[in-house]
Amino acid sequence: MQFKSLKTRIAFIFLTLMLVIQIISAVVLRNNIQQNARDTVHSNLIVGEKIFLNILQQNGENLSQAAKILAADFGFRQAISSHDYETILSALNNYQDRIGANVAMYSSPNGDNIVTTTNVSKQEAAPELAALIKEAQAKGDSRQFRIIRSHTYQLVAVPVKAPLTIGWIVMGFEIDSALAKKLNKLTNLEVTFISHSPSLDKNTQKLNKNAVVQGANHTKDSASLGELVSTDQVDFGTRLLPIFDDGHQSLVVELKSSVEMAMAPYKALEKNLLILTILSVVVFTIVIFYVSKRLSSPITELAEKAKQLESGNYKINIKNKRVDEIGQLGKAFNSMSEAIASREQSISKLAYWDEMTQLPNRIAFMQKLKSIMSDARNEPVSVIMMNLNRFKQINNVLGHTTANEILRVVANRIQESARNPYSPVSISYVARLGGDEFAIIITKTSTHLVLEMVTDLVKYLEAPVEVSEQLVDISASIGIASYPEHAENDEQLLARTEIAMQVAKSRQAGVVVFEPSFDASSKVNLSLATDLKIAITQHHFQLFVQPKVNLKTGEVWSLEALIRWMHPEKGCIFPDQFIPFAEQTGHIQKISLMMLNLAAGYSALWRSKGIDLPIAVNLSTRDLIDQNLPKKIMAILKTHHLNTDALSLEITESAIMDDPQRALQTLEELAGIGFKLSIDDFGTGYSSLAYLKKLPVSELKIDKSFVLKMTEDRDDIKIVRSTIDLAHNFNLKVVAEGIENMESWDLLKYLGCDFGQGYFISRPMPADKFVSWLDEWKAKAHKTAA
Ligand code: C2E
Ligand code: CA
Ligand code: CA
Repeated sequence: MQFKSLKTRIAFIFLTLMLVIQIISAVVLRNNIQQNARDTVHSNLIVGEKIFLNILQQNGENLSQAAKILAADFGFRQAISSHDYETILSALNNYQDRIGANVAMYSSPNGDNIVTTTNVSKQEAAPELAALIKEAQAKGDSRQFRIIRSHTYQLVAVPVKAPLTIGWIVMGFEIDSALAKKLNKLTNLEVTFISHSPSLDKNTQKLNKNAVVQGANHTKDSASLGELVSTDQVDFGTRLLPIFDDGHQSLVVELKSSVEMAMAPYKALEKNLLILTILSVVVFTIVIFYVSKRLSSPITELAEKAKQLESGNYKINIKNKRVDEIGQLGKAFNSMSEAIASREQSISKLAYWDEMTQLPNRIAFMQKLKSIMSDARNEPVSVIMMNLNRFKQINNVLGHTTANEILRVVANRIQESARNPYSPVSISYVARLGGDEFAIIITKTSTHLVLEMVTDLVKYLEAPVEVSEQLVDISASIGIASYPEHAENDEQLLARTEIAMQVAKSRQAGVVVFEPSFDASSKVNLSLATDLKIAITQHHFQLFVQPKVNLKTGEVWSLEALIRWMHPEKGCIFPDQFIPFAEQTGHIQKISLMMLNLAAGYSALWRSKGIDLPIAVNLSTRDLIDQNLPKKIMAILKTHHLNTDALSLEITESAIMDDPQRALQTLEELAGIGFKLSIDDFGTGYSSLAYLKKLPVSELKIDKSFVLKMTEDRDDIKIVRSTIDLAHNFNLKVVAEGIENMESWDLLKYLGCDFGQGYFISRPMPADKFVSWLDEWKAKAHKTAA
């Protein structure tokens, strides 16, 4: 059986148990009562039988005594002698009445003269008297039962002697309903006399049928004569007692004792017991339900609380003052839910928290932004996303511990500026999105004020950090986008902030606020990704060159190969727009080989025309990682019948620093074969000159960011000057990029820079145009010299 609740289960078990006990005891009791009743019936019958036999004995003696007194009476004897039948009858009647007998008779010895008190005829009485007298003569005194005219009598025959027998007196009681009633009164038994005689019907006659006082239903047959007949189904215990049977006549007395009557005293007891049982069932049921409820209700409560726990409600407190096991269970449950709650809290902290910087993480940030936006309605929400510049190099050069320390400093600085009371805006939320990326949410203010705040933040952020006893410069590329100005929802806002940040990064522009055109260009970038594959297989790239000239003489000293993508629909695409992507997707290696091939082709072509200038090809990190790169370049040179002096290689400082060990290995191999190597974009990374000393390079290119403004910025001049000096100390030639005017050229020449490159000399040009440009340049130089 299935129970939904513990309460019903307990109640069911105990009620069943109780009912079973009640039923068993009722059955046992009933059996005992019935057994008792049957025993009572049995002993009643035995006692009744004894009493009945006693009565018969008594009656016989009474009869015999009365008859003997009459027989001794002188007058009676005289009446016999004188045949005075009148007197005889009178005396018989007198004596019959005296003892209450039913019949009195006189018979002469030969049976010729018979006097009877009843209306039995002499003819009927004669044979019975004869039989009686005959037996009495044999025994001296006779007590017998006879059936005369369908009446049964107990008879006694006594002789009248004077001194010879002169006659016989017979006296008798009838076995009738009066006797039965008497017996019934004495024994409480039902009494039935059953007589049989040939003068009657052949069937057994029920004599004295009316003598049965209480009910006369005979449920047994006479087969069990003299036995106690009693089965479970029988209402009476019966005993058949044969009184006489002479072969012609017989008399049986049937004694019956009602089982029901014997059980009567118990009936009331049974009734009381039943009432008691019902009462106790009711009381017990109520008690059981109460107890089972009391037992199960704390467990039910526990089960309910467990369900709440399952659904994530940990604020569970089971209040009970019990000290028993259930109370202990409740207490254990409380502490368990507390433990789960605190564990859940630390888990969710792990999931939403950045341990290192003690700032919320990206997941937390996204959720926060979502909830702020859903509450924002039309209030402005701005997101600022910042990515540290050259963090990868900081990691590689200064190690993880220092890099982590820097991240912590940055996180602190952002939080400090968030707390700045003079800030034009109040920062709502700061998070670390991952790596070197941080984000800030600012609400209820204009983009203009946000920009102002970010400018302050940048100033604060970019102060050098002192870690492990060295100063590290920090800069970040920051993107800003605002709702509802730039985006409709949180996802778009985040995406557009990221685009702005990427633009800031690629332009090295510091802080950039989102503009709709960025989105378009980022979409262009996406489609470019698919186009890039096609461009590689269909050779949509073109080689441009930009000359490097000797700053002292103006002579063209070498060329730099710069890639252009000639898109069939979009026209000329500049490398900044696809090289970073090609580097990320691994296409860069194919592009580099293609550029090397093109450069080698032009080199061979120009050499055949007598122009003997090395062409510098730019390489990326991925190229340097490739151990087979030297072999591949050698194979290209071989197909064009060139030597290693036909090509030189430019490697950016950051490309080396991404994986310094492997880069160094490849560079050493390349230098070993005889390639001239130059370090590109010098000054933007973290490589120290001390480190560069170890590299097998022969040339150093000062990044154009220092050169472009050097005529206005004294700091830049200092940097350029010290770079030049140091490079020379290490026996490196110095190239300055980004010479856009004469002043820069002159200044650089003055500072001792060896070579220059820039729009002032020439913008990058298609390689096909180089020969004519060179002619022009030479002619110009000739004129200037002249
Ligand atoms: P880079 O190697 O530093 O190349 C010099 C860049 O400075 C060129 O941009 C050139 O057009 C620009 N430039 C030269 N003189 C001046 C000047 O006076 N003023 C200004 N403002 N800019 C000047 P470009 O061609 O757009 O190339 C951009 C970058 O793309 C290159 O920087 C280089 O890092 C990368 N790149 C170009 N071609 C290749 C290539 O074939 N392979 C690889 N891996 N990278 C390449
Ligand atoms: Ca370059
Ligand atoms: Ca450069």
